Amino acid sequence: MKNRVEELRRERGLNQGEFARAIHVSRQTVSAIETGKYNPALDLAFAIAKFFGKTVEDVFEYQGGKNMYCEKCSRVFDGERCPAGGSRRVRQPADGDLCFLAEQDYLSTSILEDMLKQEGIPFLTKGVMGAGLAVKAGPTLERTRFYVPFEHLQQAEDVLDGLTGGGEETDE
Ligand SMILES: [Zn+2]
Repeated sequence: MKNRVEELRRERGLNQGEFARAIHVSRQTVSAIETGKYNPALDLAFAIAKFFGKTVEDVFEYQGGKNMYCEKCSRVFDGERCPAGGSRRVRQPADGDLCFLAEQDYLSTSILEDMLKQEGIPFLTKGVMGAGLAVKAGPTLERTRFYVPFEHLQQAEDVLDGLTGGGEETDE
C-alpha cells in the first residue's frame, strides 16, 4: 500500500526516531511503514493520520483492489491476466508507470483534457482510429487514449467518473 508517511514526517522536520516516539512505535516500524513493507493496523493508521492532522485516506492511498499492470497496453486491473488482450506481461504497478485511463471520442477529449489540467494531473494522449473506420472516417472520428502516471491514476479516475459516470473500455 502506498502512503505519504515519509513525506509528511519530513515536512514536519522529524527524523524516523522522533516520529516513532511520538506515535509510540519502534523506529523499525516507522521505516517498514514508510517503505510499504508493513501495513499498519487500523488503530495505528488512525494514530498516524491524527498526528499529521489528516484523514487516513489522505495518508494511506488504497488502490481499490487494482493491483496489476499490463506492460503491453498499460492497463491497471485486478486479476492475473490483462482484460484487454490476455497478455501475461503483467507486474505490480509502480509510480511513474504510464497507465491507461480512458479512450474518448473527439468531443469529450478536450473536456477531459481541461478537467485533468484543472486538477493538475499530468497526462499523455495518443490518437487512435476507431477499428475499421480509419479509411472512411475523417479526423472527427479519431479517438484519443489518455494515459496518466500510476500515482495519479486514482485521482484521474475520480475525474473521469465525474465526467462520464464510468470509463469506456475498448479492445486492443
Ligand atoms: Zn494488456
